[in-house]
Amino acid sequence: SIPLSFFSGIGSASKKGILVKGGNYLEELNNVKAVVFDKTGTLTMGKFKVTDIMAVNGDKEELLELAAAAEWYSNHPIGECVKNSLEKPINEENIENHHELEGYGIKAHYKKDEILTGNAKLLKKHSIKFDEADLLGTIVYVAKNGVYAGYILISDEIKKDSHEAVKRLKEIGIKSFMLTGDRKKVAEKIGKEIGIKEIHSELLPDEKVDHFQKIKEQIKGSVIFVGDGINDAPVLALSDIGVAMGGIGSDSAIEAADVIIMNDEPIKLREVIDVAKFTRVIVLQNI
Ligand code: ADP
Ligand code: MG
Repeated sequence: SIPLSFFSGIGSASKKGILVKGGNYLEELNNVKAVVFDKTGTLTMGKFKVTDIMAVNGDKEELLELAAAAEWYSNHPIGECVKNSLEKPINEENIENHHELEGYGIKAHYKKDEILTGNAKLLKKHSIKFDEADLLGTIVYVAKNGVYAGYILISDEIKKDSHEAVKRLKEIGIKSFMLTGDRKKVAEKIGKEIGIKEIHSELLPDEKVDHFQKIKEQIKGSVIFVGDGINDAPVLALSDIGVAMGGIGSDSAIEAADVIIMNDEPIKLREVIDVAKFTRVIVLQNI
């Protein structure tokens, strides 16, 4: 009767749109004391919109074209947004040497020019002179042949249920954390709106791993990591329970995760924990 109860638990989770990959994860969910959230695509929609363009030479369409060409082969939500804002398609024959630099952005050649597109860290790493913009939103800087060309400001939207999701975890004594590669200013504003005080921002993928490990040492109990899998696969693998967003998430994240939230709503975390607690009661009753 014990395995049967786990099967029914997995079944009722799946009816709620949550895939649990085994009875052991359902058991482990009972011991969770903290949830570590990735920001982009997890707490936010990961659907960015271009809200401003500043081109040093005044030609905004050209700046967008350079950035879109560089982002052409990227499936990062930022890259998708830049590409979708472009009016005319890019001729792929003009794109060469595309490199995605995780946590920084892109380096690629377009019409034989070297294009860099990404965050301030990326331009600093290449010793490019530029003025850092102080805006609320994600700023994508662009440089051409080592010279600053301008920026594209893009904005993301917080998911409707993120605040409620954190609140409902807190109700049952589960603490929430945020790890993000994005800037401190943006991360703190979102944290404030959602109700997460523990925020670690401007992290590279391996720094996310270090911070996750520190959180694990500090928490006595299991720790969930929940992400979309873009730039956070190593943390997903390291967590006691890895949760992936099934809609926006990358295939590799869905494969690496133990639990998958099909409709991408963070509120489902509390629902699956409730299912786990209920299943445990049934299991204990049948021993
Ligand atoms: P998060 O932790 O919020 O999910 P990521 O780790 O995926 O964010 O990315 C961190 C930062 O690196 C982004 O906020 C962005 O500034 C920059 N970045 C990463 N990939 C790209 C890209 N393809 N184009 C432009 N910028 C990028
Ligand atoms: Mg992400």
